[in-house]
Amino acid sequence: MSKFLISKYTGLEAYTPGEQPRDMEQFIKLNTNESPFPPSPGVISAITGEEIEKLRLYCDPDCILLSKKLADLYGVAPENIFLSNGSDDILNFVFMSFCGDEVKAAFPEISYGFYKVYAQLHQVDALQIPLREDFSIDFRDYCGLNRTIIIANPNAPTGMTLSIEEIEEIVKTNPDNLVVIDEAYVDFGAESAVKLTKIYSNLLVVQTFSKSRSMAGARLGFAIGPKEIIEDLNKIKYSTNPYNINRLTQAAACAAVDENDYYMEKCKIIMQNRDYTVKALENLGFKVVPSKANFIFVKSDKIDGEKLYLKLKDRKILIRHFSSEKISQYNRVTIGTEKQMQAFINAVEEILREV
Ligand code: PMP
Repeated sequence: MSKFLISKYTGLEAYTPGEQPRDMEQFIKLNTNESPFPPSPGVISAITGEEIEKLRLYCDPDCILLSKKLADLYGVAPENIFLSNGSDDILNFVFMSFCGDEVKAAFPEISYGFYKVYAQLHQVDALQIPLREDFSIDFRDYCGLNRTIIIANPNAPTGMTLSIEEIEEIVKTNPDNLVVIDEAYVDFGAESAVKLTKIYSNLLVVQTFSKSRSMAGARLGFAIGPKEIIEDLNKIKYSTNPYNINRLTQAAACAAVDENDYYMEKCKIIMQNRDYTVKALENLGFKVVPSKANFIFVKSDKIDGEKLYLKLKDRKILIRHFSSEKISQYNRVTIGTEKQMQAFINAVEEILREV
């Protein structure tokens, strides 16, 4: 740390992203919930030739074409769409815009680790609400809270979901506070709350192109919500970095929306591979938390969580282990291709035989 860092940041504990090994090709990478499938053919042709030549020009800060395409896909108007550099960026803006001295925040105690970091970054008082014993969220804990509420649905790293009725109850019972539903993993079998954004003025839904749309490296997130909330987010974006979605990403994303069916097919394959992996792990005696995401959260009584993670890493299979006490016996495993999941199961079998 330099002597120049101002005091409010000196105690900040930054987010630790999942490992991104340099020799990535040598690994079966099941640690950061990326898609194992390439982007659709239109995306690959959209970012060649003409678009690359245009890199000398600034990109469209309003992302007009992409907003229109997404609005059509989700049955809303373009003014209900906000776009930014990954959904992390949107979540940062949410904490910046809608939490502060006069509005406190609340989110589940076990959830996406970045929420805590943003709360600390923006010095927001954040209530971290414990999950039930089985890792589910009790929606009643969030009714009438009088705080800005942020919930990942499906939740991470558990993969568990709230029903749309439960989300509606949270939104209804907090009419003077914003409820943000982070739907990073919604396309793998959960129900989206986007339709509720047309009814309620205090709901914002955040999604990403990083998971179901195979574009984690392009950095694109979007939010859907009432026009006034989108205007607030744009105010913050235009006060920090208006060009934060580059030209190539915009072109790629337009093509991806045009080829939406390709991605929805791939999501189905991932769900099938998830079923296969769950059954195989249960046969090996694992406890698997019920998941509607492209990952599963698992533990075995036969092997310590961290040990399993390390032994798989020795075999060039990466999964995600979290050291925080309540979940240290668990690992989060991204669902990949059938072949990758078979290799993962074979490796786990081998490791269990060894211990
Ligand atoms: N929300 C959740 C719940 C996530 O797990 C992630 C991915 N780490 C994100 C948001 C951020 O995704 P991205 O910035 O790639 O859109």
